[in-house]
Amino acid sequence: MTSQRVDAVSLSGIPFPTEGASLDPADWAALRRDAHRMLDEAIDDISGLRTQPVWTKMPQARRQALREALPEQPQGLAAAYDQFRETIRPYATGNRHPAFFGWVHGAGTVVGMLAEMLAASLNANLGGRDHAPIEVERQVIRWAAEMLGFPAAASGVLVTGTSMANMIGVLVARTQCLGPGVRRHGVGMSGLRAYSSAAAHNCISRAMDMTGLGTDALRLIACDEAGRMDLAALAEAVARDIDDGFKPFLVVGTAGTVDTGAIDDLSRLADFCAAHEIWFHVDGAFGALVRLSPTRRGLLDGIERADSVAFDFHKWAQVPYDAGCIVVRDPLIHRAAFASSADYLRRDVRGLAGGAPWPCDLGPDLSRGFRALKVWMTIKTYGTRRLGAVVDHSCDLAQYLARRVAVTAGLELLAPVALNIVCFRVIDVDGDLDTLNAEIVADLQEAGIAAPSTTKINGVVAIRAAIVNHRSTHADIDRLLEGVLAAARRHAGV
Ligand SMILES: *Cc1c(COP(=O)(O)O)cnc(C)c1O
Repeated sequence: MTSQRVDAVSLSGIPFPTEGASLDPADWAALRRDAHRMLDEAIDDISGLRTQPVWTKMPQARRQALREALPEQPQGLAAAYDQFRETIRPYATGNRHPAFFGWVHGAGTVVGMLAEMLAASLNANLGGRDHAPIEVERQVIRWAAEMLGFPAAASGVLVTGTSMANMIGVLVARTQCLGPGVRRHGVGMSGLRAYSSAAAHNCISRAMDMTGLGTDALRLIACDEAGRMDLAALAEAVARDIDDGFKPFLVVGTAGTVDTGAIDDLSRLADFCAAHEIWFHVDGAFGALVRLSPTRRGLLDGIERADSVAFDFHKWAQVPYDAGCIVVRDPLIHRAAFASSADYLRRDVRGLAGGAPWPCDLGPDLSRGFRALKVWMTIKTYGTRRLGAVVDHSCDLAQYLARRVAVTAGLELLAPVALNIVCFRVIDVDGDLDTLNAEIVADLQEAGIAAPSTTKINGVVAIRAAIVNHRSTHADIDRLLEGVLAAARRHAGV
């Protein structure tokens, strides 16, 4: 079935009254027509993605068009929507497009889009109180725990993304180590030390910064050739810190490094942490979803033994931005890190003010939106088997790309392909290869052909393709490779 395009004409008019305190439309029928048109055009846009460039740089005139003084008089929905259609929609990130391979971006789905709309219609505040949207979030957390192999009683909360979820992990680990009193007197000179691999995402270091522990308190442990934390080096660093009077409190394992998709040996990390009574947190931003892959889930063995796991629904699970998640094995320690004394007073409260414990006692936010609905609807609509098949398909495409790189003259694979990330570069060309490969990536992005990104592998610039998008096919991989080779020929002047 192809889509039925609606004509791009303006909205019917201004169904909103231009004065009065209520912001509701005066003409609900006109509003309904306008709303349907907007939805039709959004569906046209998504169903027609393949015919569009991956990304189009926003022209200066369009940027300028957005700059206006704070509007005092109503301009109306039609004017706002027209500007969205002309100035905003064509110049978005491009991560919905099947040839987008940059960074690690989820593609989103129409189901997620509809759920966002339905959630907005309720305008629910999920900080607390006794209502169904919070039950939906609790269900999502139970599903997350089940996916990870955590106990059913595990605690968790949805947040903006894995950066925030990792920061919560650091705060819970700190509370476990120093006791809840740390929330009053601070960490002072407690000498806490955390450990991650050198390939860990830099949001771990930022979490150390933002929680006041300081980035120096994070030890970056060297990796082996496969990009995994060197466990002997970890043991050495911990022993040295203990000798020096420091207090090792947290090891962060990575399940899917952002550079190459490498997965730390989670089982041995779990053993190590158990032996040393150190909190074991896993950053599984995208990799945690490998638990849903029937063929690759074994790669994550040991994650079920973590004390806490941070991951995103907005990457491989295709839920629209933003949707991160933290799951903590022990619900009491999770609450001890964030709950206010009001939490305990709310226990037996009747009416809307009941329903404790509240999500605001599990993280830093008080007012919170209904992120849970798009996660719940995505999982319910597609089921974990379909979502796991997307993960497998991405990994299969990555293997296909790696094989093609290996057999193509003038290309070099720069890192083993553990999951869905392929790092390679153009070689055998005169001139500085780092500059050339960075130029090629920018060329492809600006031409709208494909959108890989760059990273550095062993000190050299790599073209990095992170395959996350459920829409990507073998043809899109071919399009990327042909684009890279054509750009290389252009730069070589042949
Ligand atoms: C993307 C990513 C993060 C950061 O997650 P956000 O959702 O962007 O905050 C952290 N760690 C890894 C391994 C990632 O891939």
